[in-house]
Formats: sequence, structure tokens, C-alpha cells
Amino acid sequence: MLTMDTFSFKGRKALVRVDLNVPLADGRVTDDTRARAIVPTVNKILADGGSAILMSHLGRPKGKAVPELSLKPVADHLATLLGKDVLFATDCVGDDANRKARDLAPGQVLVLENLRFHPEEEAGDPAFAQALAHLGDVYVNDAFGTAHRAHASTTIVARSFPHDRLFGYLLQGEIDSVSKVLDKPKRPLTAIVGGSKVSSKIDVLRNLLGKCDHVIIGGGMANTFVKAAGGQTGASLVEDDLLDTARAIVEQAKKDGVQLHLPTDAVVADAFSATANTDTAQADQVPDGWMALDIGPESIKAFREVVLKSRTLLWNGPMGVFEMEPFQQGTIAVAQAVAEATDKGAYSLVGGGDSVAAVNQFGLADRISYVSTGGGAMLEYLEGKELPGIAAITG
Ligand code: AMP
Repeated sequence: MLTMDTFSFKGRKALVRVDLNVPLADGRVTDDTRARAIVPTVNKILADGGSAILMSHLGRPKGKAVPELSLKPVADHLATLLGKDVLFATDCVGDDANRKARDLAPGQVLVLENLRFHPEEEAGDPAFAQALAHLGDVYVNDAFGTAHRAHASTTIVARSFPHDRLFGYLLQGEIDSVSKVLDKPKRPLTAIVGGSKVSSKIDVLRNLLGKCDHVIIGGGMANTFVKAAGGQTGASLVEDDLLDTARAIVEQAKKDGVQLHLPTDAVVADAFSATANTDTAQADQVPDGWMALDIGPESIKAFREVVLKSRTLLWNGPMGVFEMEPFQQGTIAVAQAVAEATDKGAYSLVGGGDSVAAVNQFGLADRISYVSTGGGAMLEYLEGKELPGIAAITG
């Protein structure tokens, strides 16, 4: 396997799949986290004496050129981040891209227009992938957010580079962080799984059960477990069709010797609203018409204790409706406990859109060992699935 540190890009034209899918408002980048994340990979290519051809999608143009979803403003922003000029091709394939890629000199960067202006990108069209491949002579995949998609630029294009393909620093970092958690964790290993529904996390739970020492379940999905055990869940979000599944998970945990921790109390509200009346209740005694929207103080204390004695932590999904201020405390407390455990030497990985948003919102991201950049991709990876974008490089 080639790696960024051992590969020399001297005299090479690197075709790099990056994730420049950044939020834009009035043609300006409003959050450049993803653009900053690819800088180390680009700088290494340039420092070696190579050139970089960057390709990405932006938004959902659905196979048509949509001017508002042009990558041009992102390319301009990237120029500021890199401190150098960045060239731009007005289409990702065709004459302009071919000419600019051909004339690219060592040390130069070219950004191609939005890949998803062509329906062939998401269709994984081999001819389109070949047209992209034609632009460079080594392929680097540095886009974790799309690694679970078998698109032309993430997967199919790699076939044209049987000997010259590698992960960029960002994607390698994501792979290494999951490996630290799932393959060779320092124990105890604790997974904290939250979010709205059991149905979206069921495969993650199944995969984690066999590997973890502790699994903490919070968020809306905990209600289904509470009801499955015979509790009163009032008007809480419950997936009635998954009660048996929840019972099976509890049984499996017992068999695997995994300690499953469920909330014992909850912050309840009489409406799904930031201005609802609120109270605390035992998790299995939510009054009729009320709903559990966060874990309660007793659960926070118990979850904190488990987190603080863990040496490896994986967190996916909020403990409550953290977008509304009255239901934030559980998620804040868990985020803080994960940060504290990390300060004391534990390894922590936070993955999945909402928990990443939470650690950023609460200003704790720099006290977490690794904050993942891929929501859906991370979820599939934690389910134990082989991601096409990863398999295309390693396979
Ligand atoms: P997910 O995308 O499955 O990780 O779920 C994240 C969403 O779950 C967030 O938007 C939260 O507001 C929501 N959520 C967390 N706890 C609850 C709860 N107790 N009831 C309803 N929704 C919740």
C-alpha cells in the first residue's frame, strides 16, 4: 500500500478526490472546515514537486450545471487558505479541463468544476471515470464523506490507477481512528449511541455489541428500549415495530458480556417545543401526553461515571433534542465527560453529523482525539460495512 508519507509526488500530476462540499451564502464560503481539512494533502503534493488537480461535488445539482453550485468561489477561498493562486476549469471533463491539466506545472493547483453537474458522476459511469482519470497520473482519495458511495470520482476512477492510488491524509486519518476504536482499543471500550431512532442505528449497535465493554444508549432511541422493558413512555418517540429488536439487543448484550446502560430518568416536556412546560421523570414513568426529550440528571451522573473510567470512547448521536436549549444538558454533559476522559489519556472518536455538530457548538472539538468529517460514511463504517471508496484503494 502506498502512503502519503512514503510516496513522492515529484513530477507527478495528482488527481485528488476531495470534499469541498462547503456551505455557501451569496457566493461566499460560510464554513470552510472541509476546505481546511484537505490543505495538508495538497501541501504535501506541492512540497514534493508535484501538482494537484482537485475534484469535488458541491450540493445537489442533479446532473445539470447549476451556476449557484459552481465550485469557483470555493476555489478562490482555497487560494487564500493555500496562500497561492488556484486555477479553475469550467467543467470537470472536456477541452478546458484537459488543456489546463496538461499545462499544469509542478507546484500548481487546479480545481475542476462540480462533478455532479454530470449525471455520470453519481451513476459511476466508467467512460466518465476514464475521462477524469486521463487528467492525472496518480489518484488520491481524500474525501471520507463520500467514501460510502460508488461514484465515478470516488471509486470507479481508481481502476485506472492500479499501481498509483492512495489515501490522502484526511481519509487515512478517518480509517486509522476507526481502527483505533474497533480493532485494537485500550480497554474498557465504551460506545455512546444516541439520536432519534433505533432503526437508523440498529446495524451500528449490532456491530458494536461484540466489540465493546460498555454501550450507553441515549436520545430518542432509548425510549424504544424503555418501552420494550415494560416502561411507560407517554407521548415519547417510540418505534413500536422495533420493540422485539430492542429486546433482542438487550439479550445479545447479556450473552456477549457487554454492559448496556439506559437512561433511568428523563427531562420530559408537554410538547415538542423549546417553550414547552418541562419536568423530570423516571424514564419508565413518563406521564401520558408528555415526552422524554433529554436524559435526566441521574442518567447524566451514571453515564459520566462510565465515560470517565473508559480508555477508548466512540460517540455517535445526541442524548436529547440538543437543538432546543431546554433539552441540551444531557448532550453537553456527555460531550464534557468525553473531553475530560480524553484529557486524562483516553482515545475518543466522535462521528456522525449531530454529535460532531454538538462538540463544535459546545467548543469541545479540540479536546476530542478525532472528530470525523463523514456523517453517513462514518455510520456505514461503524456498521462494519466495506466502503466502496476505501475498497477501491486497498482492493
Ligand atoms: P440521528 O440523526 O439519528 O443521529 O438523530 C439526531 C436527532 O435526534 C437530533 O435532531 C435530535 O433532536 C433527535 N433526538 C434526540 N433525542 C431525542 C428524543 N428524546 N426525542 C426525539 N428526538 C430526539
